[in-house]
Amino acid sequence: MMDCLFCKIIDGEIPSTKVYEDEYVYSFKDIAPIAPVHYLIIPKAHIASANDITEENSSLVAKVFEAAAKIAKAEGIESYRIINNCGDDAGQTVKHMHFHMLAGVKMGWGPESLGKTE
Ligand code: AMP
Ligand code: ZN
Repeated sequence: MMDCLFCKIIDGEIPSTKVYEDEYVYSFKDIAPIAPVHYLIIPKAHIASANDITEENSSLVAKVFEAAAKIAKAEGIESYRIINNCGDDAGQTVKHMHFHMLAGVKMGWGPESLGKTE
């Protein structure tokens, strides 16, 4: 198996708290939540980052957003933010493309919401 944390989570080799699963995507609770609701939604296929989206695999991104809408409906979440960190400066620490689904708090929007480190 590929040495990828999220591939191992999909495979059940590393435990996770599942939120949603279908043929194409898997969603689970982030282990270090930064909002009352903080889920990760990932394609089951290993795609390293958003930079690796192609004509062949881009439909999986739509599947991620389909899953988000289903999760939101199922959990009565009316408002949420979806974030993808692509690359080191953006804060991507796990090199299996994932989308953060954040909710349950009134969120700011502006330069300060970037959480700049320098
Ligand atoms: P990013 O910084 O965008 O690459 O996001 C990676 C996210 O994965 C972080 O929010 C981590 O808290 C989360 N994470 C790392 N390991 C685990 C794990 N074993 N289970 C759930 N979430 C994890
Ligand atoms: Zn992977």
